[in-house]
Amino acid sequence: MLSGIFRPRTRQKAGRELPADSCAEFYDSLGEGVRELPSFDDIVEPAEEFDLCKVIDVAITQAVRDTGQPFVCPPREKEERVKNCVHPSSAYGCARRLAFSLLELNKNLTDIDTKMHRIFGNGHLVHQRLQGYLFECLYRGLGEIEAVYEDVMLQIPWLVVFGELDAVVVRRGQPYLVEVKSSNRKGFDQLREPKPEWLWQTYLYMAATGIRTAIVLVECKDSQRMKQFHIEWDWETWDEIHDEILAVIEAVMDGEIPNAPGDAPCFWCDYSHSCEDPEPDWSALDRIHLPVI
Ligand code: SF4
Repeated sequence: MLSGIFRPRTRQKAGRELPADSCAEFYDSLGEGVRELPSFDDIVEPAEEFDLCKVIDVAITQAVRDTGQPFVCPPREKEERVKNCVHPSSAYGCARRLAFSLLELNKNLTDIDTKMHRIFGNGHLVHQRLQGYLFECLYRGLGEIEAVYEDVMLQIPWLVVFGELDAVVVRRGQPYLVEVKSSNRKGFDQLREPKPEWLWQTYLYMAATGIRTAIVLVECKDSQRMKQFHIEWDWETWDEIHDEILAVIEAVMDGEIPNAPGDAPCFWCDYSHSCEDPEPDWSALDRIHLPVI
């Protein structure tokens, strides 16, 4: 059983109003049945590995051959992010940053280097394009892919996690969670395993959906080469991730903000403007759907 909110195999919005700007309202907007995490007893066994990069290559080749045009994926709208919560993509790393996110501190989106905006924008476009390839594989009947779901909204209530995973690909009846990433050439060449922040993010998606096998699909920004990493669920890894996030939530609930590391503020962080002297609005705690501990 999958607990995410699965969207149709189209690029249209699902018929659900998205999200209110607080976790509590967001919960209220959800119907019953999507709040329960799956029982791991019900989940299928880990799926076998398959070469998704190769399947995508074939899909692109066929699409270009059929149309005589470069393969272009249509743009799509991005939903507004839920606030006062843990976002899987930024769960790993700085505990202080995670606390700021829970307290809904204002982000400094205008003063950060415009280069960072271009990097973020580029990352979004890579997601769109690679998601498009997955659909192309489906439509062309390649790789024994039976279904593709994109932008699956999900939650883990007691960790105040709200997120949207990139895709779920179903092959031979087995769901594979697909997480799209991009990296510059140097980073790409050095990648031997998923980065820890990718692992955390993927684990949070796996925990929320009950899918035990994930593929992290990485594209090199400089050369468009791709590589993939298979991740299988492991309870020890999950316990570590779970406990670290919970510790931050507990600290925030106790009115504490974790210390900054020595080299703060960090130039890339959208909270860098208030990192040294944060002035949190503690009433934001009321908007967090507090976990049951
Ligand atoms: S500026 Fe650095 S230390 Fe401060 S919240 Fe951001 S990542 Fe953490």
